[in-house]
Amino acid sequence: MSLSGIKIRIIGAGVGGLAAGLALAQRGAVVSVFEQAGVISEVGAGIQVGPNGVAVLRALGLESALREGAIRARAVELRDHRAGARVLRLDLDALGPDQPYFLVHRADLIDLLASAARAAGVRVRLLQKAEGVVPGKAPRISLANGAESRADLVIGADGVRSVVREVLNGVQAPFFTRQVAWRAMVPNVIGQGPEARVHMGPGRHIVSYPLRGGETLNIVAVQERAGWAEEGWHREDDPDNLRAAFSGFGGEVPEMLAAVERVALWGLFRHPVAPVWHRGHVAILGDAAHPTLPFMAQGAVMALEDAWVLAEELDRAGQIEAGLAAYQARREGRVKRIVGAANGNAWKYHLRFGPLRAAAHAALRLGGAVAPGAMSRQFDWIYRHDVTRGG
Ligand SMILES: Cc1cc2nc3c(=O)[nH]c(=O)nc-3n(C[C@H](O)[C@H](O)[C@H](O)COP(=O)(O)OP(=O)(O)OC[C@H]3O[C@@H](n4cnc5c(N)ncnc54)[C@H](O)[C@@H]3O)c2cc1C
Repeated sequence: MSLSGIKIRIIGAGVGGLAAGLALAQRGAVVSVFEQAGVISEVGAGIQVGPNGVAVLRALGLESALREGAIRARAVELRDHRAGARVLRLDLDALGPDQPYFLVHRADLIDLLASAARAAGVRVRLLQKAEGVVPGKAPRISLANGAESRADLVIGADGVRSVVREVLNGVQAPFFTRQVAWRAMVPNVIGQGPEARVHMGPGRHIVSYPLRGGETLNIVAVQERAGWAEEGWHREDDPDNLRAAFSGFGGEVPEMLAAVERVALWGLFRHPVAPVWHRGHVAILGDAAHPTLPFMAQGAVMALEDAWVLAEELDRAGQIEAGLAAYQARREGRVKRIVGAANGNAWKYHLRFGPLRAAAHAALRLGGAVAPGAMSRQFDWIYRHDVTRGG
């Protein structure tokens, strides 16, 4: 089916919504994106885009623009929290020259997608908050401003608190993982090179990586705790709370944290992958379909993969329902595996019992020393998966 002339409404101008808008418009669809916010903006934070996400951006024609503002990461280093001793270095160059792993400012990625989508004819409409969707042959969106909109297809790319997910699946309560995360950006006071570093301590870890020419460091710090914190990006916290939580960390961490002036805190919640992704010409993608914990750095990348596959399967199929069914069939197993890996990853950094931690570190070090290639290859199923070549 050519998508020529098909009228598509997308709810949400995040990474997933904008990428889907662009991919669908490139195949001839007439696309509008409804965004609740008054400006398309992003929180000041970094995002890691692994090779499988870069493959989608390349196919959308955005790789060279991405390279201009991004840093190509050369390695991921795991370090012990006490003095920052290196436990393991995963060489990302070993993935191959055609498999770049980028560190990007979220706002830069959103700008890139939004300008390309607009240039491809996508209409991005701001201050358009969707309140409900009625599935059917001509699905209907009702907006908070009282207006209604009809289309041939409605796509919910409305993130972790998706209205469209609820329409398709009912309410699925997430549960608090007993972990919270702080996010901050600071000047690169430690002169960190083009790599992601994970400092691992008992019950907590800190990830740092440089952005925008290496002048800025992005910090994500995760701590296990019993208390609940609200899910969401924008809750400010006192930087001293972050410093207190990581006061036992040595090496470069104290200097990095001393530079923090503003910090956001949020609770990390586990959500089930939505069982129903489409009904009556309404579909969901990205966090709306499968919110994930951040421990594999694949949430936005999965949204990019979804966007590509959705456009390709709609284009290939003879009709919308068949295209949507093929989209879910192609994506569901993969996203469940990645979400599961992210769920299982935190404990690996957070071992509390000293001897166990030492043993785990030794095993990691040995693995890295004996077979660095094998350590990197264990991520092949994630990074070498290329949806633009049928994956
Ligand atoms: C700490 C942290 C670090 C992360 N790091 C990475 C990383 O390194 N790499 C990676 O790939 N992923 C990462 N992620 C995950 C990533 O941020 C998300 O998976 C990704 O943003 C999902 O994109 P999306 O387009 O599905 O949803 P969102 O980015 O949430 O976009 C949803 C959009 O929909 C709009 N919207 C919502 N409701 C409505 C409505 N009712 N009407 C209209 N508009 C609406 C919102 O305003 C928003 O613009 C991280 C997440 C966290 C929490």
